[in-house]
Amino acid sequence: MIAVLERGCSVKVKADIVRFIEGAGFRAQVSEAEGENFIGVVGAGAEALAERLGAMPGVREVHPAAAPYPLVSRRRHPEPTRVKVDEVIVGGGRLEVIAGPCAVESRDQLMAVATAVAAAGARLLRGGAFKPRTSPYSFQGLGEEGLELLAEARARTGLKVVTEVVAPEDVELVARHADVLQIGARNMQNFRLLSAVGGQPRAVLLKRGMMATIEELLLAAEYVVAAGNPRVILCERGIRTFERETRNTLDLSAVPALREKTHLPVIVDPSHAAGRREIVPDLARAAVAVGADGLMVEVHPDPDRALSDGRQSLTLEAFEKMMTELAEVARAVGRPLFR
Ligand code: PEP
Ligand code: MN
Repeated sequence: MIAVLERGCSVKVKADIVRFIEGAGFRAQVSEAEGENFIGVVGAGAEALAERLGAMPGVREVHPAAAPYPLVSRRRHPEPTRVKVDEVIVGGGRLEVIAGPCAVESRDQLMAVATAVAAAGARLLRGGAFKPRTSPYSFQGLGEEGLELLAEARARTGLKVVTEVVAPEDVELVARHADVLQIGARNMQNFRLLSAVGGQPRAVLLKRGMMATIEELLLAAEYVVAAGNPRVILCERGIRTFERETRNTLDLSAVPALREKTHLPVIVDPSHAAGRREIVPDLARAAVAVGADGLMVEVHPDPDRALSDGRQSLTLEAFEKMMTELAEVARAVGRPLFR
């Protein structure tokens, strides 16, 4: 259960509320975000306090639901959030495309992709320096050297850098080089990591876990915002189902469903959903048509020799072709794609 306090309520009023909660045998978890104060009431049976808590001075509303996400909920914030990454605005009405290799492998590989995707209309570059691989024997990424190459690619092309962080102790290092910190599907419920990216100034791209419900994704986003960072972009990347034809099943219904529930921008990653490059452009077009604010697409100059996810990576030429086709769909749904 969570109590939302009146804006600007005094320290004394807050302390009285905490005393009331603790006096009733529960734990009070105080947090502040975007100028709003919240007190979570932790403990079994907390709902019994709802009525008395709601009547206390300084309490604006009480959410008795077991799993509320007041900060990311559209109910309390009807206007869509525009996540600014310098001059690039995700959720600002234009379709933004994040493109690049699954993993940063070398300077030549990264610069070739960065130059090509920038020319084709992407404004953000992706590339993993720390890779969360299923097998410990797979390529784990170049680490800090990869981050430096990403920063170099930004300096050369103007593309903003999106890269994954896999551990709380790496957050500061990754934030020093990147413009957007990605939380991967495998870490969507790594709550210490979510709080850590909530406590630093870069925007966050939060990918849906492969087994996560939409509500669990929103609660994960709530962790980031509650820790002080309101700049969160959500990403649907396919969920695991019984179907093996694709790597994951792209849940396109998540896009309009999320739009109802949250003010945060929503993008789609057709690459990790498809698992094979042949159908990536089709899924990308569908994602734009259903209202996604952007796309994240894997691109490699020589996919068959990629160190990770080559099977689903588009060639430079296929990416350029996809962007041309996408522009038509984007225009039809009123979301210009800059070219
Ligand atoms: C990735 O973006 O390369 C990645 C590992 O994606 P996901 O976390 O969605 O599997
Ligand atoms: Mn990948």
